[in-house]
Amino acid sequence: MSGWRRTETRRGHQWNVQPVSAASAVKNYSCPGCGGIVAPGTAHLVVWRADGVLGDAADLASRRHWHTGCWRVV
Ligand SMILES: [Zn+2]
Repeated sequence: MSGWRRTETRRGHQWNVQPVSAASAVKNYSCPGCGGIVAPGTAHLVVWRADGVLGDAADLASRRHWHTGCWRVV
């Protein structure tokens, strides 16, 4: 992970948004925005709920990887 975590409000919820640099992206991830693959070497975003009722650990465990562009248009 790299870059600064920030908090954004989308769809009535607060989300933690953590940028991941291209160098740190070493696996394939499925992007919830477009259903496509976030390929290794692609700078992208990790997003998880900041206001979940299950607590930070559960929210972090259910974090999702998004293409930067896909998250912007949500
Ligand atoms: Zn996407």
